[in-house]
Amino acid sequence: MSNKNISITLTTNKKQKPDVNNLVFGKVFTDHMFVMDYSSDKGWHDARITPYQPITIEPSAMIFHYGQTVFEGLKAYFSEDGKVLLFRPEKNMQRLNQSNDRLCIPAIDEELALEALKELINIDREWVPQAEGTSLYVRPFIISTEPTLGVHPANNYKFMIIMSPVGSYYKEGIHPVKIAVENKYVRAVAGGTGQAKTAGNYASSLKAQEVAEEKGYSQVLWLDGVERKYIEEVGSMNIFFKINGEVVTPELNGSILAGITRDSIIHLLKHWNVPVVEKRISIDEIFQAYKDGQLEEVFGTGTAAVISPVGELFWNNERIIVNGGQTGELSMKLYNTLTGIQLGKESDPFGWVVEVEQKVEHK
Ligand SMILES: *Cc1c(COP(=O)(O)O)cnc(C)c1O
Repeated sequence: MSNKNISITLTTNKKQKPDVNNLVFGKVFTDHMFVMDYSSDKGWHDARITPYQPITIEPSAMIFHYGQTVFEGLKAYFSEDGKVLLFRPEKNMQRLNQSNDRLCIPAIDEELALEALKELINIDREWVPQAEGTSLYVRPFIISTEPTLGVHPANNYKFMIIMSPVGSYYKEGIHPVKIAVENKYVRAVAGGTGQAKTAGNYASSLKAQEVAEEKGYSQVLWLDGVERKYIEEVGSMNIFFKINGEVVTPELNGSILAGITRDSIIHLLKHWNVPVVEKRISIDEIFQAYKDGQLEEVFGTGTAAVISPVGELFWNNERIIVNGGQTGELSMKLYNTLTGIQLGKESDPFGWVVEVEQKVEHK
């Protein structure tokens, strides 16, 4: 592979690693991070791996005022035979650039980003936890750093990658979650930033999430922002329904985030000859399918949980229990297969898994 010229400064003070059985999501970070700067005269430059440390930016930096920023999320897994594996990481870098385009952030070199990511993981290889269900969560992100209050696309940015060991999402086994259908707040509308992974979408989702939690639900099901009728996503996951033997998921309509897990599930279902369609689906149709005895399974998909079965949906004072509140057979099979592929335990028919090869020079 080409040498992309990433300078490396190793830490002289390695941190103590946390107990892998008591990891809290995103609290502890590894010894190193990746940083690259952008200025309109130099473009992206000065790619470097440094000890994980605070950064200095001006209070007037545009990120703090106008939220011009994007991020990604993916995981590195430790396989049974001692390899470190990534799952479709090139898709994350592609999506980062799609988000960049929407937020007027200059495109990054995807190949360089991927190489930087592998180099960083290699340096912090000891941080990839080995206990069952654990992984190293990787967070690439870009912020606008130009110190100006004028509203315009910034002339300066920082691209960073930080990493955090994370515990098993399903320590106590997979349990279906209770979901409240959101009638008041919306996450995104077509033409907005819903299909970009950008901070503002998350900031605007907090209120609905807070209200739902107070009422005992773990997440909200988002409806479209215009008619409050068509299903979009669940929390920060994509959503699938199995109705009378057919799997349906909302089509990518401009406000839905195109999940890599979503895409992988669709590929797997097609591979298994399970009928799967992407189309506009109304919440009415789902409640009707339930009444007709045809709603078989509901599940969310995303990097964090992979598959999150939905056991209960609440909408307009009506409560429906999906599959007796139990994890469905197809949900379970998808979970086992996808996590099996990610861990290198199952055959990988689509060539999704990328090994982070060990380099000796950092030993
Ligand atoms: C990241 C994200 C997803 C899931 O994407 P994956 O690539 O599967 O992790 C779904 N919805 C939203 C809003 C997201 O931000």
